[in-house]
Amino acid sequence: MTFTLPPLPYSLEALEPHVSARTLSFHHGKHHAAYVTKLNELVKGTPLAEKSLEEVVRATAGDASRTPIFNNAAQAWNHGFFWPCMTPRGGGSPSGDLKSAIESAFGSVDAMKKEFAEAAAAQFGTGWAWLASDKGKLKVFATEDADTPLTEGKTPLLTVDVWEHAYYLYYQNRRPDFIAAFLDHLVDCEFAADNFSRVK
Ligand code: FE
Repeated sequence: MTFTLPPLPYSLEALEPHVSARTLSFHHGKHHAAYVTKLNELVKGTPLAEKSLEEVVRATAGDASRTPIFNNAAQAWNHGFFWPCMTPRGGGSPSGDLKSAIESAFGSVDAMKKEFAEAAAAQFGTGWAWLASDKGKLKVFATEDADTPLTEGKTPLLTVDVWEHAYYLYYQNRRPDFIAAFLDHLVDCEFAADNFSRVK
């Protein structure tokens, strides 16, 4: 197997009560795992099997003949990035350079969070909401299905998965409640700051 399922950086129960262990078990152990398994099937015996996950995402983006490979690779990458965006004692606000950059782009951290929550809630159907650096300028936006800022020359700093599988077992249709829990209790601002420190 070329690509492997990265382990969660915390236990299945660690994000309770904001993300249930049952949700995390299915989300990581079934959904994320299925993208990795399918990707391995699709690239087996091809040159893509020798590439990094990020290289596969970039190489197949926008190529209609390889959409299934892109979808599974991008979903595998997005999920691998999403897990460390959360931490058991998360929430709060970034400090230092990231705080300054957010204030410069959005006016305040709260304004950025509000825009992030609105983008996540408004994404129709499946997708992701992101805080990303676009050549040093911070932006908040949503992407559809498996789409990822990696293919648009942007550097992701933070994401939340708003596919129903991310929240439905616990929140059912209440996606905004999941987004609020993510921002208030789970988001790992240090992970975002670490990502930002590498793109400046
Ligand atoms: Fe997901």
